[in-house]
Amino acid sequence: MSDNEQLGIRIMRRIQNVIHANTAELDAFDRPIGDGDHGTNMDRGFTAVLPKIEAQPDQSLAAVFKTTAMTLISTVGGAAGPLYGTGFLRISTAIVDLDDDHPRQVAAALTAALGGVQARGKATTGEKTMVDALAAAVDAANVAVEEGVDTVTVLERAAAAARAGMEATIPMRATKGRASYLGERSIGHQDPGATSSYLIIQAVADVVRDGPVNT
Ligand code: ADP
Ligand code: MG
Repeated sequence: MSDNEQLGIRIMRRIQNVIHANTAELDAFDRPIGDGDHGTNMDRGFTAVLPKIEAQPDQSLAAVFKTTAMTLISTVGGAAGPLYGTGFLRISTAIVDLDDDHPRQVAAALTAALGGVQARGKATTGEKTMVDALAAAVDAANVAVEEGVDTVTVLERAAAAARAGMEATIPMRATKGRASYLGERSIGHQDPGATSSYLIIQAVADVVRDGPVNT
């Protein structure tokens, strides 16, 4: 197995672990401004992803992200399934076209994911959705790339920005998704999808920083 083949599996394992550990918290964020299922939805999706990517012959990053996308679309349900599915699918095609400039690949992958989520959900920043975390991550990654920092630093800056973007959803009034039905009453609550987006980007940063366990 090449490094990249192991990397895809390691990324999805870590995401699955983190989502699983935060299922109750993500459901709790979804309760006051939604229907309380975001963690359960995401946990069901990533739990279904693992056996599929472990069993498939092609474990390249592009193939792993593609299987992840298709599995999330068919198993997560709710708004987040098609949104994350489209985001991961766009990453799988972005990766195929890229060379070995890893910091730039990370920024391009994040940009592709944001583009997919926005194509599907039509949300922009300030609407109290996962876009607020993802767009902040993309901006930070692009700035980091221009500074010439390494891949781990690009990912860590992206994760820190996603966290800030997630926290910035608290005072926002939702204008997209289920939370928008609450109008002003959505103010004062952290968006669950922005929270899962932060957790996912942080998980990727942690995997790349920690490196392979057995090599
Ligand atoms: P549902 O709202 O169908 O129950 P989830 O609870 O799994 O689905 O996901 C809710 C999350 O989906 C929200 O917190 C928000 O971040 C995200 N979301 C909803 N609609 C949109 C949209 N149009 N664009 C981007 N993200 C959205
Ligand atoms: Mg929900």
